[in-house]
Amino acid sequence: MQRTLSIVKPDGVKKNLIGELIGRFEKQGFRIVALKMIHMSKREAEGFYIVHKARPFYGELTTFMSEGPVVVMAIEGNGVIDKVRELMGATNPKDAAPGTIRADFADNVERNIVHGSDSAESASFEIPYFFSALEIVG
Ligand code: UDP
Ligand code: MG
Repeated sequence: MQRTLSIVKPDGVKKNLIGELIGRFEKQGFRIVALKMIHMSKREAEGFYIVHKARPFYGELTTFMSEGPVVVMAIEGNGVIDKVRELMGATNPKDAAPGTIRADFADNVERNIVHGSDSAESASFEIPYFFSALEIVG
């Protein structure tokens, strides 16, 4: 059984897409095993995206991710990491396959609605970044 970390980003929360995204994950048969709404500080967003520290978009990305509340969740199921990435679509909505979350709702490559861990290694950093063992059920 695998777990991934997903985030409804500030643009997704503003567009009232929390339920839509959770619904798409649940329809696949995956279980939400941790869930909360938080408003990250710039510093907290920088820590989450530390892997992108050297990228030119790091400053704008972390400002965006701290501009408003987000919903963070841990999701569990067989193959959940790759399946959530598939449901999300490509980072740039212009390249995202029809019917994916980003194709349906994202404005641009930065404001792209949703995050999902890209590997088991990423998930093992990202889930504990937001949730203690006691906050994860099942
Ligand atoms: N991002 C951006 N410009 C880029 C690439 C990425 O603003 O050229 C933002 C975007 O919000 C993306 C996040 O940085 O979701 C993390 O980038 P990554 O390459 O990890 O994309 P993801 O895994 O989210 O598809
Ligand atoms: Mg990524």
